[in-house]
Amino acid sequence: MAIYVVLMGGPGAGKGTQAKKLQKQMGLPQISTGDLFRENFKNETKLGRQARPYVDSGELVPDEITLGMVGERLKRPDTEGGAIFDGFPRTIAQADALEALLAENGERVNVVPYIHVDKDLLLKRLAGRWTCPVCGRVYHDLFNPPQKPGVCDVDGAKLYQREDDTMDTQRRRIEVYFEQTAPLLDYYRGKGLLIQIDGEQSIEQVFEDLRKAIEEAR
Ligand code: ADP
Ligand code: AMP
Repeated sequence: MAIYVVLMGGPGAGKGTQAKKLQKQMGLPQISTGDLFRENFKNETKLGRQARPYVDSGELVPDEITLGMVGERLKRPDTEGGAIFDGFPRTIAQADALEALLAENGERVNVVPYIHVDKDLLLKRLAGRWTCPVCGRVYHDLFNPPQKPGVCDVDGAKLYQREDDTMDTQRRRIEVYFEQTAPLLDYYRGKGLLIQIDGEQSIEQVFEDLRKAIEEAR
């Protein structure tokens, strides 16, 4: 049976970190809209040029652009058994549109784990984040350092700091999260899908809690 998981949580809560681990263990593809935008920047596409100013300033990319991109991604056959959404949906309109997209194939969102992390810690997480340009894995210079400083453990690539990980943009992204995305918590709570997980635990413990929540929803 297909299973569609929406990972909720503020910027820096650990969604990408956990989505990569779940992808590996459960064989479900990670659909990260942030990663998809960054791919479009790298490939210098029209969509990338449209989205760039929003991403660089920490604002949400308009729903129309984001939804078009997700709709295309869901047409790929690797999502037939389900997917892990990371950073999507971020507005109620996106959540409604996701429901409609999945319903076309008789599917639905099955579970929404909410990785809860206090606001002050979110900023610290973002400030020390380093990303691998090849595989997208993230590290933290204090909380989750790579074995060799500045280098990805898996493919040896030189890590970089995201352009939207400047202090001002980090703050704005957290504000935007509370203004525009946090209302989704009630939306999914109302549907009986939300499961809160303590995101301030170790990466391994958060993973264990997530795995259990997803298994129970299967
Ligand atoms: P998100 O995708 O929700 O924005 P990330 O997965 O990119 O968050 O994680 C943000 C930063 O916090 C990264 O530097 C990551 O290494 C670190 N991190 C993620 N989960 C934990 C955790 N449980 N404990 C400590 N650091 C973490
Ligand atoms: P993330 O990689 O999830 O931290 O996202 C980085 C940036 O991409 C965000 O600050 C937004 O500008 C944009 N973005 C990612 N996902 C969405 C989405 N679902 N809706 C609108 N904008 C998004």
